[in-house]
Amino acid sequence: LMEVLEHEQDLPSRTPDGHDVSLMVNTGLAVDAVASLKSRIGGVGLYRTEVPFMITERFPGEQEQTRLYRDQLESFAPLPVVMRTLDIGGDKDLPYFPIEEANPFLGWRGIRVTLDHPEVLMVQLRAMLRASQGLDNLQVLLPMITNVDEVDDAMRLLDRAILELGEEGVPVNRPRVGVMLEVPATLYQLDALARRVDFFSVGSNDLTQYLLAVDRNNPRVADLYDACHPAVLSAMARLAEDARRLDMPTSVCGEMAGDPAGALLLMGMGFDALSMNAPSLPRVRAAIRRVPLESACELVAETLALDAPGEVRRHLAERLTGWD
Ligand code: PEP
Ligand code: MG
Repeated sequence: LMEVLEHEQDLPSRTPDGHDVSLMVNTGLAVDAVASLKSRIGGVGLYRTEVPFMITERFPGEQEQTRLYRDQLESFAPLPVVMRTLDIGGDKDLPYFPIEEANPFLGWRGIRVTLDHPEVLMVQLRAMLRASQGLDNLQVLLPMITNVDEVDDAMRLLDRAILELGEEGVPVNRPRVGVMLEVPATLYQLDALARRVDFFSVGSNDLTQYLLAVDRNNPRVADLYDACHPAVLSAMARLAEDARRLDMPTSVCGEMAGDPAGALLLMGMGFDALSMNAPSLPRVRAAIRRVPLESACELVAETLALDAPGEVRRHLAERLTGWD
């Protein structure tokens, strides 16, 4: 698909009919390489804080975390940086914090771990807030949310962190807070979640895994793992509609956003922002610059009418060649 022209990488991610899509990057390490893209992106849509935690020998302390986060926030300021609180468990283990379970993807993961260890979450939130002082481009994202109670508990810890820092003479502003939509149960609680947070971020990787009951890393069932499965597309389309009705800024930060066909579908569904690994940016930008929003909407309607994942794939491939 689509010849990518170098010079167009400096042009806006705007469709031929004038619709802008915000392209953001996912980060973990190596902030320098990605920071050079600053003029071409809308910010960092997902900073996976567990990535730097994986290469240390113990939980990094508050000072060390503050330095890490400051580096991210400074490199991209004034653009927003969405920092996700620690998302360990599942496939992501820290050598110094082993989790042994029969079903790790259904177990102690993400917010479930950090709410059970508020001391870990508090250090992280304090470090994020301190790092954001004077920059104010921090946004906080909560992973693996299943219940609103988890959001309320995390918010209470955030309030406490802000209060504590204020008392210590470090006044900080309250950042915008969002939740990952990646556990299917959240799709049925959007109103309640919207009353509590400022934005949504769709984790299409886990949402696909949990909707289809297919381990995202198991090669034996890799054929079944497909973000273009009709059920996933239908869930995403509905979600985009609900988010719009609720007036909630909603981005997608899973792999689907970094795939040109996936990105066009997401744009057609009405998502505001797409966050992806930096190497995916050129092809996604090229796709957006070639396909009118109206055509992307038609593409969504066409694919939603198909019954099987293979049909969707074939149809997308065919339509995309037409836009070359
Ligand atoms: C996702 O689940 O889609 C996501 C972006 O988060 P991660 O891949 O880190 O689980
Ligand atoms: Mg996830």
